[in-house]
Amino acid sequence: MEKHLLFIDGERVPSCAKAWLPVYSPADGERLAEISRGNAEDIDQAVKAAGKSLAGEWGKMTATARGRILTRMAELTLARLDRLAEIEAKDTGKPHSLAQNDIRALARYFEFYGGAADKIHGEVVPYLNGYSVNVINEPCGVVGHIIPWNYPAQMLGRTIAPALAMGNASVLKPAEGACLSALKFTEIASEAGLPRGALNIVTGLGDEAGQALSAHPAIDMITFTGSPRVGALVQAEAAKNYLKCVLELGGKSPQIVFNDADLAKAVPVIVNGIIQNAGQTCSAGSRVLAQTGIARALKAALKTAFEGLTAGPADSPSDLGPIITRQQFESVVKTVAMAKARGAPVIGEGRVHEAADPRGHFVAPVIFGPLAKTDPLVREEIFGPVLAVLEFATEEEAIAMANGVEYGLVAGVWTENGGRQQRLATRIRAGQVFINCFGAGGGVELPFGGVGKSGHGREKGLAALREFCVTKTIVNDYR
Ligand code: NAD
Repeated sequence: MEKHLLFIDGERVPSCAKAWLPVYSPADGERLAEISRGNAEDIDQAVKAAGKSLAGEWGKMTATARGRILTRMAELTLARLDRLAEIEAKDTGKPHSLAQNDIRALARYFEFYGGAADKIHGEVVPYLNGYSVNVINEPCGVVGHIIPWNYPAQMLGRTIAPALAMGNASVLKPAEGACLSALKFTEIASEAGLPRGALNIVTGLGDEAGQALSAHPAIDMITFTGSPRVGALVQAEAAKNYLKCVLELGGKSPQIVFNDADLAKAVPVIVNGIIQNAGQTCSAGSRVLAQTGIARALKAALKTAFEGLTAGPADSPSDLGPIITRQQFESVVKTVAMAKARGAPVIGEGRVHEAADPRGHFVAPVIFGPLAKTDPLVREEIFGPVLAVLEFATEEEAIAMANGVEYGLVAGVWTENGGRQQRLATRIRAGQVFINCFGAGGGVELPFGGVGKSGHGREKGLAALREFCVTKTIVNDYR
């Protein structure tokens, strides 16, 4: 049984308590490996190593040199694509093609931010006569990163690459449910020449290692991706130390389909937007809002599509893999069973492939509707392959429905009417609006993040680099 150590100060080290956590396969329940159960003491060592790296080689490096190391990390990731994807597929149960995409995205994050490292320039501000004013961007310092299990490799790239590009040092607490690709990635970091201590990884439980990281007095910023419940806890800990906190939480993103929509274009995108990664995507399009005149045709097309879908193991011809953690699997199964028990109408349902191991966490994709605005399937994030359909008559009603939940992450708008496209884009409360397309999680270049219960702060794009720095204004009286 492979046992994975922590990565602190450029070394693989056992946890201080020498404790371990089992890693199970979501596809068949087999024990795959053991990871170290890091605790507060390990977090403390990692934070100290990060601080030391800022005072040493890493902190003194030019932005260009940092960018070159990140670019090298991207190249090495692509060179090891197959091995990393194999680890990711095993750990998460996702189809190999999806795992490969995720590793490509990991490489792309390091490529994009490697290239950007020396391109975030300051400003010269016109001020009083005889004064010069320079506004510069400095790294925040030691950043704590806490990420979930749904896209372990992508999440690592999304949060670590911009932080390092701006010259911060990172302590990452990956999710205990899936973190083997992150641990493998440490080899790439070392080989690419990332100075010791610039990236540290402490695996462990959320309420142990995660809590200790968010409460550590020597971190300068914390960034969290995960559930709203834990996000609020992390922000409360950060507040005690007056820290900046970026939160990427969940979503209940709408796909709004007007009568004039191009259904042939919309339907496959809507289906993919909810079954991608078996629905375990924060930006999944999990609500369809259908205008009355198109609702019947749309529901019929979605029914046909859903009834042709199969959930199954990576080596079967399936459309989606298992739910990654046991706890999440049980939650999705319960939500679907409760909805059926209270009579929520099923429009269509896929199936679980016969090759699926009964111990695996496979869920048949299902679409319910039409549902009332108050139905829990419409209001709550399920984080599984479950789609809810609602109907609306007018544009005003569509906007009210789209904005009528606590979340605001992404929205899809399907209409050929140009004025309506712009009105919806302006009035929908969300971090991203897609018009006649939908990109659940896609696009490294595209600033991404939420409002309301979906969180605050931005990842991806150049916007992420701004989050990882502190603006300093230098005023010089040269009279
Ligand atoms: P979670 O909040 O339980 O766990 C996320 C991370 O937080 C894990 O690493 C976990 O160990 C850690 N954690 C748990 N308790 C903690 C505590 N008390 N203090 C500090 N850290 C703690 O979420 P999950 O169930 O692993 O992931 C699913 C949720 O994440 C969904 O709600 C989903 O929408 C959200 N998510 C959001 C995004 C996004 O970008 N907005 C991306 C992926 C997942």
